[in-house]
Amino acid sequence: MPLLDTHGRKHDYLRISVTDRCNLRCVYCMGEDGIDQIAHQDILSYEEIIRVVSAGAELGISKIRITGGEPLVRKGIVDLIKQVAAIPGIKDLAMTTNGILLPRFAADLKKAGLNRVNISLDTLKAEKFESITRCGRLQDVLDGIEAALEHGLQPVKLNTVLMKGINEQEVLDFLKLTLDKPIHVRFIEYMPIGDHDKGYRDHYLPLTYVEEVAANAGLSLTPEPLPGGAGPAENYTIPNSRGSIGLIHPISKHFCDTCNRLRLTAEGNLKACLYWQDEKPVRPVIDDQEALKNLIKEVLTGKPVEHQMAADGACGSVQPGTMRGMSKTGG
Ligand code: SAM
Ligand code: SF4
Repeated sequence: MPLLDTHGRKHDYLRISVTDRCNLRCVYCMGEDGIDQIAHQDILSYEEIIRVVSAGAELGISKIRITGGEPLVRKGIVDLIKQVAAIPGIKDLAMTTNGILLPRFAADLKKAGLNRVNISLDTLKAEKFESITRCGRLQDVLDGIEAALEHGLQPVKLNTVLMKGINEQEVLDFLKLTLDKPIHVRFIEYMPIGDHDKGYRDHYLPLTYVEEVAANAGLSLTPEPLPGGAGPAENYTIPNSRGSIGLIHPISKHFCDTCNRLRLTAEGNLKACLYWQDEKPVRPVIDDQEALKNLIKEVLTGKPVEHQMAADGACGSVQPGTMRGMSKTGG
């Protein structure tokens, strides 16, 4: 029996934020001083995460994404991967990371059972990278991408948040990256999320911009499904290229009608929608598998048909500051 919400959408995907901490401070994600960190004892333990995944797997969850914060800064992450990969029913195990620590971890992660990674990268210019992340070194991420490719964490996808006045001049460079590397570049629309972010209004740009840049450069974007699925991305390739291009537009063209995901926040709250306030804590029922399964079903029962901005008819104009930051929820 598939796990359905009240709107008939099948849910087989759980995204887990394993930490709210990070070794970068991206401008669209955190304030300059980081975030008010969740106390260590309030962060879900690996044992507790495994219990939630096991309950989910019994209900039909087969895909897991480990995210954060930066998942690779949490101690023992390779062990968690090994344990999640061993849970019956889990067929796809992926991670979203800023890539900085991949040169150190890629081989072990692959061995532990991680299938693939999404690596966040918004610019190919070292100085700009430092200013977007407030402290990062571009070369570390480039080395991380190479490490992921070398150790077969594939398909390697890049997550690139499009920001007007910051990186839109680099769209063509990102498109061209897919020509000779087996890299899947996914452009993402800037979302007004978290109360730190004052930049959304100035920097949001709809992804039609990417299509315009491609057309002006004479690059034809041919729709093509990505092996293993593209999730909410519309996927395209440039003829004769080795990679592909994904467009993820939560704002200008939301994809709520095909949403298949649940989220588990770093402190153990289940959320049915990234862009909706409701969430329920798993800790009160963590020792009881049947109660955990019931909680998952209950959370899905309350899942809205579409996210808050769409429901408000306010896509592109909602006030930032209403939602918890991305690093705590898990992007
Ligand atoms: N630290 C990891 C990373 O950066 O890949 C994982 C966590 S991060 C919160 C997950 C994704 O959320 C990243 O690809 C990041 O670019 C994206 N993200 C964060 N804030 C965002 C925002 N305001 N709008 C769009 N995407 C955002
Ligand atoms: Fe850290 Fe990822 Fe947020 Fe950047 S987007 S600050 S790397 S959690």
